[in-house]
Amino acid sequence: MSTAFGKGTLCIQAGYSPGVGEPRILPIVQSTTYKYDDIEHVRRVMTLQEFGFKYSRTGNPTVAGFEQKMVALEGGTAAVATASGQAANLLALTNICRAGDHILAPATLYGGSYSLLHTTLPKFGIEATLFDPQASPRAIARLVRPNTRVLFGETIGNPGLNVLDFAKLSALARRFDLPFVVDNTLATPLLCNPLRHGANIVTHSATKYIDGHATSVGGIVIDGGNYDWNNGKFPDFTEPDPSYNGVSYTGQFPNSPFLIKARAQILRDFGACLNPHNAFFFNLGLETLHLRMERHGANALALARFLEKHPQVAWVNYPGLNPAGRRRIARHFNARNGSGVLTFGLRGGLPAIDRFVKRLRLAALVIHVGDARSSVLHPASSTHAQLDEEQQRSAGIAPEMIRVSVGIEDTADIVADFAQALATDPTP
Ligand SMILES: *Cc1c(COP(=O)(O)O)cnc(C)c1O
Repeated sequence: MSTAFGKGTLCIQAGYSPGVGEPRILPIVQSTTYKYDDIEHVRRVMTLQEFGFKYSRTGNPTVAGFEQKMVALEGGTAAVATASGQAANLLALTNICRAGDHILAPATLYGGSYSLLHTTLPKFGIEATLFDPQASPRAIARLVRPNTRVLFGETIGNPGLNVLDFAKLSALARRFDLPFVVDNTLATPLLCNPLRHGANIVTHSATKYIDGHATSVGGIVIDGGNYDWNNGKFPDFTEPDPSYNGVSYTGQFPNSPFLIKARAQILRDFGACLNPHNAFFFNLGLETLHLRMERHGANALALARFLEKHPQVAWVNYPGLNPAGRRRIARHFNARNGSGVLTFGLRGGLPAIDRFVKRLRLAALVIHVGDARSSVLHPASSTHAQLDEEQQRSAGIAPEMIRVSVGIEDTADIVADFAQALATDPTP
């Protein structure tokens, strides 16, 4: 489907176009298997000489509908869906890096990505250096090593909510000829298209806003088709792959070597594929993403403005409120607002936090963001509970911090819920 259509039209119609007499809705193809009549045909499909579904670990028609819709929304060339957002980042990074390689990323990453880069990938010989996102271009450039193979970042950090400095980091990626991988989960393709701002690969946790209703875990990797892997740094892309009759991905698939290799080699071997039921839910979620993101952003801004003036609130962090956030949103976002996620500091210590959380009626205490329902979380006692206070502070977690995923309920009802939960009891 032509990307000349607007985002809302693509949200609803891209990715699947039925023929005469076929289902109007993207069907759930609950099949592991695809039938072939002819030995030669199977041989051609299995050796990548011809495209076709083989076995649902490496591709499925329902999953393909979701993938193609995301390609249209991000303006990429191809995509591969995965079992989770974690699997998406793992797939993107291990498709590029092998033991001995090095990754550069801001330190303000989502907790799962932080532990992947900091703890788990080093066990496989892939090291990462995490830098202060405020550092000067020169200071970050000094961290680039001869074996650095990827620059990784997040459009909106979680829970720091810092908006990525695309200009600074894409200039660095160009200068050192590094592929630039961006996790666009919190911004969604509705608010930002990283491929337009220097990224080469985009990843998402589809579990968040893409699903939007807290039903399904999944992820996706989208190839921008805008990086030349044939530059001497990536032998796994240019040299023959012995696991596929010696195919060279750049030689045989010049339009999308990254994605073909990710699917045919890494997804085949790691196996973290998306199931068709969840792809169906993500496709359904995408059909309203444009409407939901508008409302999430408007509700979050309204709640942030209310919280800013509340005497029990020490501080509020929302990208649409602070000048640096506003500048980057104006420069790189397709929308005026941030997403639905904000954080604030509550006065009165743990007893006040406990009391506030218990008094909420609409918003619930859950480990999640991006749901249609408003929710809150206290990072210090949940997502970051395994760290001591000093480690929490260096990860940007203050003890008084509450993270809110503002839902799409009526604005006045959300604000009223927070107002009643924050009200101090009248002293007798
Ligand atoms: C949630 C999240 C992930 C991980 O996704 P899962 O689907 O939970 O595995 C990765 N990156 C960001 C920014 C996230 O918010």
